[in-house]
Amino acid sequence: MSRYNDPDCRLCRRELVKLYLKGNRCFSLKCPLEKKSQLPGQHGAARKKLSEYALRLREKQKLRRYYGVLERQFRRYFDIATRQREIPTGTRLLQLLELRLDNVVYRLGFAPSRSAAHQLVSHGHFLVNGKSTNIPSYSLKPGDVVELKPGSRDIPMVLEGLEQVKSQRIPEWLRLDPENFRAEVVALPSREQIDAPVQEQLVVEFYSR
Ligand code: SF4
Repeated sequence: MSRYNDPDCRLCRRELVKLYLKGNRCFSLKCPLEKKSQLPGQHGAARKKLSEYALRLREKQKLRRYYGVLERQFRRYFDIATRQREIPTGTRLLQLLELRLDNVVYRLGFAPSRSAAHQLVSHGHFLVNGKSTNIPSYSLKPGDVVELKPGSRDIPMVLEGLEQVKSQRIPEWLRLDPENFRAEVVALPSREQIDAPVQEQLVVEFYSR
C-alpha cells in the first residue's frame, strides 16, 4: 500500500468524504469529518466549484485513496477492467479493488483498516488456498480460501476485530468461519455490495478523456 506523507484524515478532508483510513477512530466522534466538512488548508472554505476535469480527477483520487493503491497500480487495474467486456468497466474496476487480499482481510474484520490489513498480509500472517501469501495486492477469485496462519491467531488486533465483526455485517460475497479464522470468497461482489463512496463512471471518464 502506498504510504502518504499527509495525515490520513487530511485525505478524507480533501475529498470531503469518509475514506475510513484510521480504523475505529473513523466510527467515533473523534473523526474530524464529524465536526466539520471543509477542505483542509487556510482557504479550504473558500474553494470554488470544481471544473468537469477536476470533478473526475477528485473521484479517481477518492477511489484510489479509499483502497490505498498507488497511481501506477490503479491505472493497471483500470486497464484490466477495460478488457472485461461483459461487465461495465467501472463495476469491474471496483471488483478488482475489492478482491485484493488486503481489502478482503479488512472486510472480514481481521484488521481495523486497510493499511493495517496491508501490514498483516505483508508480514506473512495469511494463507490463500493453503499457501503462504504475503502480497497485499494478491487478486482473489470465487472459491479461494483465506486463512490466518495458526501461529498468528493470538494477535490482539485480529481477536479484537473478529469480536467486533460479530455485530457487523460481512459482505455477502464472503463467508467467514470465525472459529477457524478462515473465509471463502463465494462470489464476485456486485456493485450494490460494494460500499465505496464514488461515482465510478466519473473515474472511467477521467481515464477515457
Ligand atoms: Fe480520519 Fe477516519 Fe475520519 Fe477519515 S474517516 S477523517 S481517516 S477518522
